[in-house]
Amino acid sequence: MKMLLGTEWVDRDQTIDVRDPLDNSLIDTVPSASNADVQTALAAAYAARQTARKMTTYERSQVLLRTAAIVADNIEDFARTIAREGSKTINEARGEAKRTVNTLTISGEEAKRLLGETIPFDSFPGGENRRGYFERVPIGVVMAITPFNDPLNLVAHKLGPAIAGGNAVILKPATVTPLSGLKLCNAFMEAGLPPGVLQCLTGHGAILGDALVSDKRVRMVSFTGGLEAGLHISNRSGLKKIGMELGSNSPVIVWKDADIEWAAETCVSGAFWAAGQNCIGVQRIYIHRDVYEQFRDDFVTRTKAYRIGNKLDEATNMGPMITETEAIRVEKWVAEAKELGATILAGGGRSGALMEPTVLENVPENATIHHDEVFGPAVNLYVVDTLDEALAKANSVDFGLHSAGFSNDVTVCHRMAAELDSGSVIINDSTDYRLDSMPFGGVKSSGLGKEGIRFSLQEMTEPKVISWYLPGV
Ligand code: NAP
Repeated sequence: MKMLLGTEWVDRDQTIDVRDPLDNSLIDTVPSASNADVQTALAAAYAARQTARKMTTYERSQVLLRTAAIVADNIEDFARTIAREGSKTINEARGEAKRTVNTLTISGEEAKRLLGETIPFDSFPGGENRRGYFERVPIGVVMAITPFNDPLNLVAHKLGPAIAGGNAVILKPATVTPLSGLKLCNAFMEAGLPPGVLQCLTGHGAILGDALVSDKRVRMVSFTGGLEAGLHISNRSGLKKIGMELGSNSPVIVWKDADIEWAAETCVSGAFWAAGQNCIGVQRIYIHRDVYEQFRDDFVTRTKAYRIGNKLDEATNMGPMITETEAIRVEKWVAEAKELGATILAGGGRSGALMEPTVLENVPENATIHHDEVFGPAVNLYVVDTLDEALAKANSVDFGLHSAGFSNDVTVCHRMAAELDSGSVIINDSTDYRLDSMPFGGVKSSGLGKEGIRFSLQEMTEPKVISWYLPGV
């Protein structure tokens, strides 16, 4: 596919192969953008910010709703693209494509709810004869940098609010999964977005990144990805807004009075969705001693029933990791935990990029798989005796995107809601629950700022005050 530079779809002699992680087969190639392309894109975006700003609220909303309709009409095509270039099974990919329709629809609706307020300028002496208000105005140019694991919906989570807010936007999608994002840009153009308002540069973040994020014409870097790249970008960005949606290591508490069957069912799905490459995937489960064996046996039975392999087969539950290198990393983390005393209850094996869904118990706290983000299909089970112990252990890592707790005791649920230290607490479902309109973002090393259209729209616009001095009024 070509990339969208300025107002044109362009090719380049230097290209990057996009390969299916399951068998390494070539799907397509994309241009490898040069530093000169970065400068062209920045200049074009800076000029196009005026076009974007002048679009009426109605026009922005209509473009977003038409783009949502194009995605809705082509769910299967988008789903196959997601499934082929990434890790998701076709069923998981359909789920993402459908959620993208929601994300764009919400963006089209929220464009119309971008409100200001009147300001009581006369609230102190000296304010007589003053009237005024603030409205929210576009910030100008947004740089959107996205990860591989939700290559369509996480792109929509940035392009949707950026356009709803009247900004020009440059997308830099993950190099391993650029096709879904490029197709979404194509849908925006088909929907009538004025040329130049949206561009998509394909190329390696490590090479192009500093020029993209440090330029003064960019007023916000909206980044979703890992902690390492996030910290690097934060350090390079300079004086501009930054949105950081980073990783996590999500805990779940299963209390003794919970519905154990439901907890096991939904936590298995939450642990292995997208082969565990999910920022809100279940990684650590703290289970009350009274129900530990029941939960563990149920969880392990369901895990062992998982079918892994061909992503396009309707019966497959889990596909490969994004690269063999990543699968080798998870395999090593599992082996390290075993060496330190953990027991492997299911999985642990690997074939190419296919890592088996893996369940561990007795994982010591110095094991990497306990305290770092695994971002792969491996989950740790722990026994706990008291709620205080469960809450303290759940909060003991330096991440906090989502946490979850299962109980039928309302007091226990309220304590979990109040004391789990994360951006969201999900009661009676796994951490892998998200509504695309809710505020979404982490605490601690999981990030800074919030997404979830209404909230990203606030980040991607700013209040502008208009103050009138009207003697005699
Ligand atoms: P990543 O390696 O951090 O890459 C994310 C994006 O950043 C890619 O487009 C990448 O480009 C780009 N990038 C890398 N280095 C850069 C630099 N120095 N300057 C500018 N851009 C740079 O993350 P990933 O492996 O794709 O995704 C996995 C991570 O994302 C996990 O930690 C996961 O938890 C997190 N995540 C968070 C959320 C959330 O909403 N909180 C959602 C999904 C995923 P290249 O592809 O060219 O390297």
